[in-house]
Amino acid sequence: MSFTDLGLKPELLRAVAEKGYHAPTPIQAQAIPAVLAGRDVLAGAQTGTGKTAGFVLPILQRLVAPAGAVPRALVLVPTRELAAQVADSARTYGKFLRLRTFQVFGGVNINPQITTLRAGCDLLVATPGRLLDLAQQRAVDLGHVEILVLDEADRMLDMGFIHDIKRVLRLLPAKRQNLLFSATYSDEIRALAERLLHDPLSIQVAPRNAPIELVEQCAYRVPKEHKRHLLAHLIRENDWRQVLVFTRTKHGANRLTQQLEGAGITAAAIHGNKSQSARVRALEGFKRGEVRALVATEVAARGLDIKELPHVVNYELPNVPEDYVHRIGRTGRAGRPGEAISLVSEDENSLLRDVERLLKRAIPVVPNPAFPITETARPSGGSRSPEHAQARAPGRAAGTHAGHGRGGARSGKSVVHSQQAGSRRQRHR
Ligand code: AMP
Repeated sequence: MSFTDLGLKPELLRAVAEKGYHAPTPIQAQAIPAVLAGRDVLAGAQTGTGKTAGFVLPILQRLVAPAGAVPRALVLVPTRELAAQVADSARTYGKFLRLRTFQVFGGVNINPQITTLRAGCDLLVATPGRLLDLAQQRAVDLGHVEILVLDEADRMLDMGFIHDIKRVLRLLPAKRQNLLFSATYSDEIRALAERLLHDPLSIQVAPRNAPIELVEQCAYRVPKEHKRHLLAHLIRENDWRQVLVFTRTKHGANRLTQQLEGAGITAAAIHGNKSQSARVRALEGFKRGEVRALVATEVAARGLDIKELPHVVNYELPNVPEDYVHRIGRTGRAGRPGEAISLVSEDENSLLRDVERLLKRAIPVVPNPAFPITETARPSGGSRSPEHAQARAPGRAAGTHAGHGRGGARSGKSVVHSQQAGSRRQRHR
């Protein structure tokens, strides 16, 4: 099967060839002809399956016509990152067509968006809240939308966008083509699909658990207060150059970022409280290899376009086991094996069990390596190794001891913590 077989126009085939794609992915092979034929589609597909091109390419083809003033295709997405990513894809695939794509999302000044929208756009990618604001200000007319896409619909519902989505639907013409993409199917998604889609083609390319077959998973059992030391050790000892670390809270992401930086590991946080420019900076730094650890919360990490990510760390297990699958689904793309490591503290046992129940398999718990726990005993002045810049660990690190690191470079208090088969052993450096 080639892209030519799917009935795409030469301009689109050229753009696809320039991207270096040789063959359509399974979702593309099924979705592209259906969307071109004007059918509604319900697709179960995760990030990494090529779903974006699966709807963007045929939409661009259906829109082919001189650029218009008002959007004829609307893609609703949960996050600003995904909005930027989908719009970028549309611009890339549509580079040989005369169509305008624009993205709008909240958290940034609305006025430049109003100005750009006035100049006209054919394909609009939007987060629901900002789109409603723009519609209310009459900056956008949704009365000519012919194709609607709900991308990552499950995530939009998780984020509480259902009412916004319903309000957007009321602004659209009744007769239109609808595409719904979702990684998971809850009753809520099914209800939305039923309400939205007419005689849809159902496509399920990635059964929810499929991508994780490619991911090597393991867990370390480690007390909460030692997680950061173990993480720093794993990054250093294994020489991980690019690791995505998940924390449960924004505050936790900030704190861990500072702690890793303090341990001499370049890190950046990405979460909902960060400005758009800070997020873009963090992501770009990570992609370029300048930032070794990207510390993210669940929601912010959604829609990040990071290819072939070798390591994902669950610094804290997610409350919802499905999120574990989303998180680790980011590794092992394009057939490469990835590695997902979970740091599990005592109070997370039940969360680990939930994940294992969902996966229908056990996640192997591996013995902890011996790792240093370095306390700050920072005297004023003097040159310190980066590790000693880190904050004092909460509580007393087990057996804190004066010690010297490799080559005597470390002069603060450190211990080596090792925990095997459930018993805690300490060795002093
Ligand atoms: P998505 O699932 O849309 O987030 O896409 C995941 C990644 O796959 C993106 O980086 C795309 O550039 C890439 N991709 C999409 N379609 C293809 C294809 N047919 N061949 C190779 N890579 C692709």
